[in-house]
Amino acid sequence: MDQLIFLGTGGARVVMSTQSLSTGGIILEMNDTLLSIDPGPGAIVHAARMGLALEELKGVLLSHRHLDHCGDVNVMIEAMTHGGFHKRGTVFAPAQALYEDPVVLRYLWNYVKEVSLLEERQSYTCGSLNFETSMAHRHGEAETYGFLFHGRNYTLGYLPDTRYFPELASFYKCDILIISTLLLYKGKADHLSVSEAAQLIKEIKPGAAVLTHFGMGIWKAGVDTAAEKIAHKTGVKVIAARDGMRLDLPSLSERA
Ligand SMILES: [Zn+2]
Repeated sequence: MDQLIFLGTGGARVVMSTQSLSTGGIILEMNDTLLSIDPGPGAIVHAARMGLALEELKGVLLSHRHLDHCGDVNVMIEAMTHGGFHKRGTVFAPAQALYEDPVVLRYLWNYVKEVSLLEERQSYTCGSLNFETSMAHRHGEAETYGFLFHGRNYTLGYLPDTRYFPELASFYKCDILIISTLLLYKGKADHLSVSEAAQLIKEIKPGAAVLTHFGMGIWKAGVDTAAEKIAHKTGVKVIAARDGMRLDLPSLSERA
């Protein structure tokens, strides 16, 4: 059963430290492969409360090393490997998150089968799921990549934190697009605003787009309002994710 499970939909420092929204990232089940993506603080708690079988994870994937994307990476590795008793799974992360300012504890490297270094525009396999990395995102000093996952009948894009730049649209051609929409209005931060997300969705023209990783401003203004605005501008079906939401990927990939 291909699906997305949103352990959290919050992004950035204030939302994360107040837990106004949860910050656990996403569990992706696709091509019989279970993957934890960007497990921010709280991922383990929300996954446990939802009764998810984390020992069935095939991998843990980090787009970049910011705390709201990796706070629970170590405990997710322990969960995937049954506390280190079953050596299995792969950790995928950019070099910066592994070497320069490491976020994966060194002793946990021995718990997993492989630690795979993410680089731009490369192909990777996790279980029976193939995916590609994007070009480097423009996200401050953080080495950041997004992903295109190849399902049996559709593609899923995950576009994490970045400043807008036009080349993004050419990489993220997909049927379902998950897009980090942190800002209500364009600001100085290297994050997408509602109007920039709309611009990208218009250019990419996916069958459906899912907004997530919300900052305080967009959350207070209403994420459903933002989704409706983008849908109106683009003609694309747009959903604002919610903490704990499950989305069935095959039905989402059906184009109207
Ligand atoms: Zn970030």
